[in-house]
Amino acid sequence: MIDSHCHLAGEEFAVDLEAVVDRARAAGVTGAACILAAEDDVELAQAARVRTVWPEACFALGIHPHHAGTFAQRLESAAETVARGLIEQHACAVGEIGLDYHYDCSPRAVQQEVFALQVRLARERGLPVVIHTREATEDTFRILREAGGDEVRGVFHCFTGDRAMARDALEIGFHVSFAGIVTFPRADELREAARLVPSDRLLIETDAPYLAPVPHRGKRNEPAFVGRVAEAIAGVRGERPAALAEQVTRNFQALFARP
Ligand SMILES: [Zn+2]
Ligand SMILES: [Zn+2]
Repeated sequence: MIDSHCHLAGEEFAVDLEAVVDRARAAGVTGAACILAAEDDVELAQAARVRTVWPEACFALGIHPHHAGTFAQRLESAAETVARGLIEQHACAVGEIGLDYHYDCSPRAVQQEVFALQVRLARERGLPVVIHTREATEDTFRILREAGGDEVRGVFHCFTGDRAMARDALEIGFHVSFAGIVTFPRADELREAARLVPSDRLLIETDAPYLAPVPHRGKRNEPAFVGRVAEAIAGVRGERPAALAEQVTRNFQALFARP
């Protein structure tokens, strides 16, 4: 089983990273994509420790839409920061990148520019993208189309859209990744979307330290809990959790394997 999206190099895990990784291994989690914020030097330094403790983890690096605003007026610096980080961290993907019109932490125009330049970078490097999108569906697909052409592949992480949006994501060749929200009581529409994603395009994640699944809801999340997501999705799809875990592991390797 894999955790396709977690923030293990974040400060929330600085105290007990070894124990967190031990628990993940004990729970059968054999790999993870650790998401790095390209502009966060503390997190980038901590990535070295993650690499030592958990050599099976791979790294994605990008500028999150929340932090795009710090690069307003200096977009070339955003591109340089990500380009350098991708090499230094041997990144397997560009991400997480995208648009967040729910929190609007950065001006939308800047979010769009920073997103587009990172999609272009992914295209140049032949790397997949990890997409964060919230209340910005139309602009997200438009920018992926304009900046990525038909060439860029990736994953919609922590998918919270409806069935129509899942179909759109699948149609442009993307994977769809579900997080602990699928275990929440009122997430019926989301479980419905999880039911229709073809097996070979499905991924699961924790987004740790955020969004802990039931019964850990409200606490710090960690990769060991990704099995709860697998169980919830296997349940709505009428599959065995073990079979689903194997399938998403293959999907993960196919998407994030370095060219
Ligand atoms: Zn996100
Ligand atoms: Zn994330």
